[in-house]
Amino acid sequence: MIIMKFGGSSVANRKQIEKVLGIVRGRMDRRPVVVSSAHKGITDALVHAGKSAAAGKPEHTPIDRQRAILAELGCAPDLLEPLFDELAALLHGISLVRELSPRSLDYVSSFGERMAVRTIADFFTREGLPTRAHDVWELGFITDGKFGAARPIEGWEGECRAAFAALAEDELALVTGFIGRTPLGEVTTVGRNGSDLTAALLGAALEAREVEIWSDTDGVMSADPSVVAQARNIP
Ligand code: ASP
Ligand code: MG
Repeated sequence: MIIMKFGGSSVANRKQIEKVLGIVRGRMDRRPVVVSSAHKGITDALVHAGKSAAAGKPEHTPIDRQRAILAELGCAPDLLEPLFDELAALLHGISLVRELSPRSLDYVSSFGERMAVRTIADFFTREGLPTRAHDVWELGFITDGKFGAARPIEGWEGECRAAFAALAEDELALVTGFIGRTPLGEVTTVGRNGSDLTAALLGAALEAREVEIWSDTDGVMSADPSVVAQARNIP
């Protein structure tokens, strides 16, 4: 078994998601578990929406952007309606109390990954690769209550292995990065850009042969091109 992790720019839009589908298809013999981030820009937009709500200025949420991705992938428009409703209610609540605690911020931020895995799993399945979306907390990823920097609690690996062992073998597991949940059910995150960490922790718990962190740059570059504009490919 291997873990394959794809970040936000790798699942930014249909073109990128089709590439991911091709890459995953080519490795099905290695029994991949796929970990995904939110689509590019969605987590930033969620954080922004949370802050604006707390300032009493409820603004655009990323719901429109997510709807556009659903449409682009040919998903049923109501696929994520329960999550959209939950997010809208949460932002409304934040705008009433005018307060964004680390706990509420994690809850708001969690929607990106939760929406992404459902969207992508629906697309993969219709493209002929049966895929099931999972919130990682349903697979044993239970954390402490350090909101914004949560870590799995001691002994979680056994629960994780048992949860994965019970999954259907004929479906690809597509799992949320970044998020978690405490034993009391409070939503947490492991920290910004944390999906790599989720992938690594799952890989260790499941004794995966490999953890692959996929990136959307061509080959190896001299620096991170999102940080250094002059980054170039190294021959
Ligand atoms: N979506 C989260 C973030 O933007 C986690 C990640 O991308 O790894 O921070
Ligand atoms: Mg990243």
